[in-house]
Amino acid sequence: MSHHKHHGYRDVPLVVPPTLAAEHAHVFEAAVEAGRRAGRKAAKKKLKRAVRHGGLKLSKELREATLRDAEKAGARAAYTAALKALRKARRHPPQTLTPALPAGQAPGSASRLTEAPPAVARSSQIVLEVLRVHWLSRSMVRVVVGGPDFAAFESNGAADQHVKLHFVNPALGLVPPYEMRALRGRLAREDLPVTRSYTIRYYDAAAQEISIDFFVHGSEGVGGAWAAEAKPGDPLVLSKPKGKFRPDHGAAQHLYVGDESAIPAIAAALEMLPRDAVGQVILEVDSTLDEFDIDRPAGMVLQWVHRDGEPSATSTMLAHALRELPAAHGQVEILALGERSATQEIRRLLSHWDLDQRRIMVSNYWTPKKSRRSWRTPSGETPGSTLL
Ligand SMILES: Cc1cc2nc3c(=O)[nH]c(=O)nc-3n(C[C@H](O)[C@H](O)[C@H](O)COP(=O)(O)OP(=O)(O)OC[C@H]3O[C@@H](n4cnc5c(N)ncnc54)[C@H](O)[C@@H]3O)c2cc1C
Repeated sequence: MSHHKHHGYRDVPLVVPPTLAAEHAHVFEAAVEAGRRAGRKAAKKKLKRAVRHGGLKLSKELREATLRDAEKAGARAAYTAALKALRKARRHPPQTLTPALPAGQAPGSASRLTEAPPAVARSSQIVLEVLRVHWLSRSMVRVVVGGPDFAAFESNGAADQHVKLHFVNPALGLVPPYEMRALRGRLAREDLPVTRSYTIRYYDAAAQEISIDFFVHGSEGVGGAWAAEAKPGDPLVLSKPKGKFRPDHGAAQHLYVGDESAIPAIAAALEMLPRDAVGQVILEVDSTLDEFDIDRPAGMVLQWVHRDGEPSATSTMLAHALRELPAAHGQVEILALGERSATQEIRRLLSHWDLDQRRIMVSNYWTPKKSRRSWRTPSGETPGSTLL
């Protein structure tokens, strides 16, 4: 059998069967690069530990030579794995490929199937595309999605029905669904797709549409930042839905509280209440500019509370507003969702009220953290490597 040398990568002599080499040069290059980086990183960590805790002494030259060897070993291992995976994919081609439309591509256009990555099997990811986008307030944007994969989404009908959305670095040009196992071997860790939880605000079986309301909390992160720039045709990848909250029609009163992340679930719950329901809704936003219309029974009194520039991570407005209320007791249904320490404080407060525990749902919807992913700059450019 004739083989030829693949010149795609420095230092690592790769013997690639010509049939595979021609079509998949980029796969080998990506695999080798990822393996090289992984090898160096692993060796660096081990050397550091050996120097710190094992008393190892290493000259600069020897350290660099060791790291280079580790790079080569990593690259070779990744190359072998890629070769094996491609051979396997060739022997067992996927039966059905239902890729999503790449951004901006018209439905039904001819290149749809040919653009699918070769070895991507169908996964549990539901790939929809953005149909419309509209801003409900200064900071909340509604993204309406649909498309041929809509039928794969089985609504569970809960008010807090939520999904994991998969986000990728747009600079990489990946086409969903994302085959995580293959991508793990191919991409740097910081480039791997990530997920964020979002509520299904509307599921409309007749129109075959799903609406999701995103709080745009700044340019950091991936979910809010993606939504701020979403446009018709963009793919959006959803997991299967979870969630179980259904308003209790038997409760005497309802008390729903939350910050922006909770508004979609609370708004959905309000729409599921009987029209004669009574109670109170407390929603925390930054200012009046962040408020918008929320349909609800006339007996559900809505109170907006404003942070007025205070960071949401440290806001105590919700618990404060609750403390101002007369202590509820008996058959009051409570739904409290939002930032972790705020919901913890609310839980503590409620423990002093005489309530039916079965009618209380308090849930942490987000936790302040140092942002690890920001693929879009405020100007809309997409930083990051271009691997593919
Ligand atoms: C079941 C469930 C349903 C949810 N539904 C919705 C929904 O429908 N709409 C919605 O907007 N959010 C919703 N959230 C919250 C959302 O998942 C988080 O806010 C998530 O962190 C947003 O991801 P990101 O990529 O934008 O920011 P991340 O990458 O997670 O974080 C980037 C930075 O932004 C900060 N940050 C993250 N979220 C917020 C926030 N809400 N307010 C202020 N700062 C924040 C972080 O501390 C970090 O500094 C839901 C969460 C859960 C668990």
